[in-house]
Amino acid sequence: MSARILDGNAIGASIKAELAEEVKALRAIGVQPGLAAVLVGEDPASQVYVRSKVKTCEQLGLYSAHIAPPASITTAELLALVAELNARDDIDGILIQLPLPKHIDSKQILRAIDPAKDVDGFHPVNVGLLSTQQPGLVPCTPAGCVEILRRSNIPMEGKEVVVLGRSNIVGKPVAMLLMNESATVTVCHSRTHDLAAVCRRADILVAAIGKAAMVTPDMVRPGATVIDVGINRVTDPKLFEQLYAGDAAREKQFAEKGSTLCGDVHPRVMEVAGAMTPVPGGVGPLTIAMLMYNTVLAARLKRGMAPSR
Ligand code: NDP
Repeated sequence: MSARILDGNAIGASIKAELAEEVKALRAIGVQPGLAAVLVGEDPASQVYVRSKVKTCEQLGLYSAHIAPPASITTAELLALVAELNARDDIDGILIQLPLPKHIDSKQILRAIDPAKDVDGFHPVNVGLLSTQQPGLVPCTPAGCVEILRRSNIPMEGKEVVVLGRSNIVGKPVAMLLMNESATVTVCHSRTHDLAAVCRRADILVAAIGKAAMVTPDMVRPGATVIDVGINRVTDPKLFEQLYAGDAAREKQFAEKGSTLCGDVHPRVMEVAGAMTPVPGGVGPLTIAMLMYNTVLAARLKRGMAPSR
């Protein structure tokens, strides 16, 4: 058996096409949703992420401001910048690209963002709204996981879900969202006993651990749906060989670039699962689509308009 591929690129493209239409209609009544993307310093990976977020804004007709203070900015100066963005009328969403340099108090910065503009959904107010099932801005990657399930017609209600990972960014919010969808949710972490046995209970397994190929076929119930959130760069030729020997496209990429992206789920889980997200091309494209969704939603809510769905 080979799992049905849950194609995040295709699902993300549909969401973006819907949003482009919505933005067109909003602009026709004089509303252009705007996102401020703040990138402190020059971390190359963060630069790639922010560039692609700004580019997607442009594609969908959103206004975007790319703000790039130097790595030497102080917490007080960054707080002042956040206050300025909170007050700006043309900005509906504020994104502070993480991680911030170590000398900056990240929690204080994230708490300073107006919850109504917190398009990453990390502000304690939005965390509270999510956990009490009230409308708010929901973290993008977790929202993307649920959107993949919903748009792939995979039922969540009453299903056994196991979430691997309990981070504030992925594990906890995705567990909360799935609970809100009436799934029966178990959250695992590094202290969980007999992880494989717990995972095998899952109808839907969400892996957000940050360890390449850690979820092996013996941990997956045959036919289960597997959502692989992990993004890990594999550079070790030996590990590459173990994971991808015989995969011509990957071998070509590895030979050219010296690396490939691998999820938290072993590629051979494809032989056991009923449906599975690939890496790359699974959850990743949904994260950016949901960021755009949140920016448009924030713009609507600020003007007293109802959410589009
Ligand atoms: P964190 O490092 O913050 O959290 C990892 C979690 O996994 C922790 O709860 C940790 O447990 C748990 N864990 C670690 N090792 C084990 C183990 N051996 N057995 C069981 N549990 C374990 O990671 P994030 O949540 O931020 O990210 C997870 C992955 O998702 C990463 O690969 C990241 O790159 C990716 N990611 C992808 C995104 C996307 O757009 N697709 C967006 C965000 C993240 P404990 O709490 O006990 O330490």
